[in-house]
Amino acid sequence: MLIDTHCHLADTAFARDLDAVVGRARDAGVTSALCILSADESDEVARAATVRAAWPEVRFAAGVHPHRAAHWNGRLDELTALIADRTTGDDVIAVGEIGLDYYYDFAPKDVQQQVFAAQVELAASRSLPVVIHARESLDDTLAILRAAGAGDRVRGVMHCFTGTLDEARRALDIGFYVSMSGIVTFPKSAALREVAAFVPPDRLVIETDAPFLAPVPNRGKRNEPAWVAHTAAFLAELRGTTTGELAATLRRNVAALLPALVPAGVR
Ligand SMILES: [Zn+2]
Ligand SMILES: [Zn+2]
Repeated sequence: MLIDTHCHLADTAFARDLDAVVGRARDAGVTSALCILSADESDEVARAATVRAAWPEVRFAAGVHPHRAAHWNGRLDELTALIADRTTGDDVIAVGEIGLDYYYDFAPKDVQQQVFAAQVELAASRSLPVVIHARESLDDTLAILRAAGAGDRVRGVMHCFTGTLDEARRALDIGFYVSMSGIVTFPKSAALREVAAFVPPDRLVIETDAPFLAPVPNRGKRNEPAWVAHTAAFLAELRGTTTGELAATLRRNVAALLPALVPAGVR
């Protein structure tokens, strides 16, 4: 039994064949997933209902991605109200993905930081974990999380982690989980494989980030939750354990951070 802790099932990429995608996930032993919603894109938020109907075990996270931060410049009260509204349902269990992306740099850094910090604060005030997107921005990301009370009132996961070993250490130091995506299976990811081998068993989770970043052997195709099994098998071998053992470890971690994704009987 595996859980995909980060995918975008409400993306238009899945509009035509969601039932088949869910069927293949179940066949692969993927029992549930965290579906990330772009909180300020109403079409995507509306498609959550379709995802819910197709896969009742799925839970949701909602947040404004750093790529969209510029829309919220000077409108932080409105942003906080929006995120509060998007996270009212019982099946919305996290705020995300949120963070800082200095690689694409679609919004000025200070705007990204304000939009990120406002959402972290909202998450903390509602005791919701955060799903963090950090690209070439780890120092500032960790500083904002620390300032908001990381490790205490702020808990969460560094999604699709691609940083260095030292950066992983620092994310772990503030109590965060580190999530590996299909990138770890790519031939050029030797440094990331070192990180994946290093993350302590009680802090590791995995994800697809579908429809993006399909793991080997499906690299380049539209990714889907079933394929988290490829990443799991790859990581098990890398870490010198069995897939079953790794799956049990991952399940315990998801149960600790995002308990609603794990059926009560197997927590
Ligand atoms: Zn991301
Ligand atoms: Zn994502």
